[in-house]
Amino acid sequence: MFENLIGQPAAGLLAEDIASKRLPPSILFSGPSASGKLTCAIELARVLSCEKGGSWTCTCASCLRHKELAHPDLLIAGPKDSILEIRAAAAAFIANRTPATRYLFLRSVRKLSLRFHPSLSDRDDSKFAKALPLLADLEERLEELSPSRPLPEDGAELEKCVKGVVGIAEKLETDCLWDSMPVAQVRNAAAWSRLSPSGRTKVLVVEGADRMQESARNAFLKVLEEPPANAVFILTTSRRGAIMPTILSRVRTYAFIERDSQSVAEVVSRVFRADPAGIDNLTNFFYRFLPVQPDTITAAAALFVDLVLKQAIDSGRRPLPGLRGAVSSVLSEPDSLADLGIPQIVSMLNKCKPGIVWHLFLSSVAGFMRKALASGGADARETSIFARWTASIRKALDSVDIYNINPVSALEMLSLEMREAC
Ligand SMILES: [Zn+2]
Repeated sequence: MFENLIGQPAAGLLAEDIASKRLPPSILFSGPSASGKLTCAIELARVLSCEKGGSWTCTCASCLRHKELAHPDLLIAGPKDSILEIRAAAAAFIANRTPATRYLFLRSVRKLSLRFHPSLSDRDDSKFAKALPLLADLEERLEELSPSRPLPEDGAELEKCVKGVVGIAEKLETDCLWDSMPVAQVRNAAAWSRLSPSGRTKVLVVEGADRMQESARNAFLKVLEEPPANAVFILTTSRRGAIMPTILSRVRTYAFIERDSQSVAEVVSRVFRADPAGIDNLTNFFYRFLPVQPDTITAAAALFVDLVLKQAIDSGRRPLPGLRGAVSSVLSEPDSLADLGIPQIVSMLNKCKPGIVWHLFLSSVAGFMRKALASGGADARETSIFARWTASIRKALDSVDIYNINPVSALEMLSLEMREAC
């Protein structure tokens, strides 16, 4: 068991706890992003449901359903940036039409679509209502790729089908996914976990457990205080310190470690069938599948900061030499003369879709402030301006993520606030 969990000591601890029947009903997987926490949670669900001892190669009915992430005893909830992994898996599948890459792709999509399981959401939840037609379309397309069916002979036909699935997944993630688990979902998940399992154990995975809002956290705490007999809860987080102590006291933590370069290379070559040369961490590997390349995101951030600085000077504010220096190192002279407006900057960024592009863009804007501070070029006045800007950037992040403001309006608001703070 846990053979697919590359380079993580937590796998050995879990296997020991299962063997000695000491696995607690509530578990926290804590560690950096892309360290295999969800992979491990899904594998644990398979092992706990297996009818024949949980061996990696088991082909019992339960394991086969888990392998496709289509087991009725598994639910996944919580926020997630899945789309780059889905794109990476799609590329592996299109280039290598093997059973392993087919499963890789199907599982990557189901890791997202399971979050919209009808047992979790209320039909009057607007995000869920919006997701329903997309999910119906997605299921129909996934059916064509089901391991029980032969693949289309024609490579182009397969590629079209895979790309169709990726397109729907992207819409689901961008337009319908919750930023944190709503309290109604916690209640629904609790009700689900109290029903008898169809096999041996029900498993609920909650990703980004640190991002739960207060009402959801409290509801979840109640569930953890009286765990149902045949259910296991697995929370995941990359920020253990942000989880309520009362929740922490009810879970056993299994720590995941940052992958070393050998384990990164193994995941890239063995799982995603790609060349690991030059890849030092998995996040950078997934960035290869961004619709906008990281260099373009940095350039767009520099253009935005440049625009704010120009507007500030036009409205009579004093220059910010430290930041000007940091931005100039990225912008070439013709760029800074380009006078791009905010709509053009957003267009450069593929309209900030998928959502990860928006995050990377804003973190790149913040990166210029850090660079100015690190270079020693920013004085006390600039430093205090940066503190106010950081709060505005945080607000801009949420306004798109949580309140669905379009990125052009959010950036216009941000540029105004930044200028005012100068
Ligand atoms: Zn089995």
